[in-house]
Amino acid sequence: MKKVRVIDPEIADALSSELKRQQNNLELIASENFVSEEILEVQGSVLTNKYAEGYPGKRYYGGCQFVDIAETLAIERAKSLFNAEGANVQPHSGTQANLEVYFSVLKPGDTILSMSLDHGGHLSHGSPASLVEKLFRIISYGVKKDTETIDYDLLYELAMKEKPKLIIAGASSYSRIIDFPKFSEIAKASSSLLLTDMAHIAGLVATGLHPSPVPYSDFVTTTTHKTLRGPRGGIIFFKKAYEKKINKSVFPGSQGGPLMHVIAAKAVALKLASEEKFKEYQNQIIKNAKTLAESLKQLDFRIVSGGTDNHLMLVDLRSKNMTGMVAESLLESVGITVNKNVIPYDPLPPDKASGLRLGTPALTTRGMKEREMKEIAQIIDEAIKNMNNNSELEKVKYRVRELSSNFSLYPEISY
Ligand code: PLP
Repeated sequence: MKKVRVIDPEIADALSSELKRQQNNLELIASENFVSEEILEVQGSVLTNKYAEGYPGKRYYGGCQFVDIAETLAIERAKSLFNAEGANVQPHSGTQANLEVYFSVLKPGDTILSMSLDHGGHLSHGSPASLVEKLFRIISYGVKKDTETIDYDLLYELAMKEKPKLIIAGASSYSRIIDFPKFSEIAKASSSLLLTDMAHIAGLVATGLHPSPVPYSDFVTTTTHKTLRGPRGGIIFFKKAYEKKINKSVFPGSQGGPLMHVIAAKAVALKLASEEKFKEYQNQIIKNAKTLAESLKQLDFRIVSGGTDNHLMLVDLRSKNMTGMVAESLLESVGITVNKNVIPYDPLPPDKASGLRLGTPALTTRGMKEREMKEIAQIIDEAIKNMNNNSELEKVKYRVRELSSNFSLYPEISY
């Protein structure tokens, strides 16, 4: 029996139920993934015990010689994988990484030009719900109504008019290639700094399957737990000139002791991401996303912008007379996990939303390919068509269980 079960059966039950949920359900949340067992092992290691304020070789605590090895490896691997001049691997999350960039070069009241949340941006880019909006002046760009792709003309116009101190490229629910040279050109024209938040597409960038923002941006932030398939956390990449400012902004600016067990797990993830196998995996993520989008289109679902170039898509449910909120809970009831999402120019508020965001990284990790994506599109269609027919929904649920059971996940883990 696991030790945690002996001392805390309630938590052991929660772990066990969550494991079963991950094993039995079809995980289509675009920002989630399943880490390898090696990463679980490192995250659960003795490194969690160590205080290591500071940076390798310059710590405020003794006994840091071994965590220094882990952090140095993580930094060097991050720089090498993304061809970056510098990297800070300590941010506890993607949001934290973004805030740390802001605090390194902006003063309260400075202007940030970023993608609006309802067109695909992230909360931490300046949504009214976030602290960022209270500290800085936020101007937003978005996507064009007809193509639903980034409106670079509007971006240019706003940049020249507002002269923001910082422009942010990158998004949470945008399915098309982002033109980083164009962002850089616009940032130069308006004398703005450029931050690219590549949280969603980092795995694709690492393998050359999405153009890299690194040569074009002053700063690049990422989470490590999405397409990159590492532990939950963030990384900041920077041009050498910003090294001191970024490192000071992270520690002591806005964080205390780094999470050394997570940093070591980031190092492992970065090593895995440099292997040829990882490129095949990322390639399959894209093939799966394209197949899922095309299969849904054949079933009369509208895909925002007409399709996808990356790992995710936004499905417009208006032709199905269903809100994202209802679809999310309907699909949950048959074992498919998704999140509701506003679509650009959505007539509905975010808690209802007209769309669903679907992504393929997690199911691709489980080994699913195009054939399964076609089946999943049919299953989603069946569930939506039979929303009020319990016996049909039971059949859909069975199909989900059957499909899922062919792709094992963490077979050796139990709590
Ligand atoms: N940046 C982008 C583009 C994201 O999509 C997300 C999370 O979904 C984040 C930042 C925030 O990451 P975290 O949840 O680790 O704070």
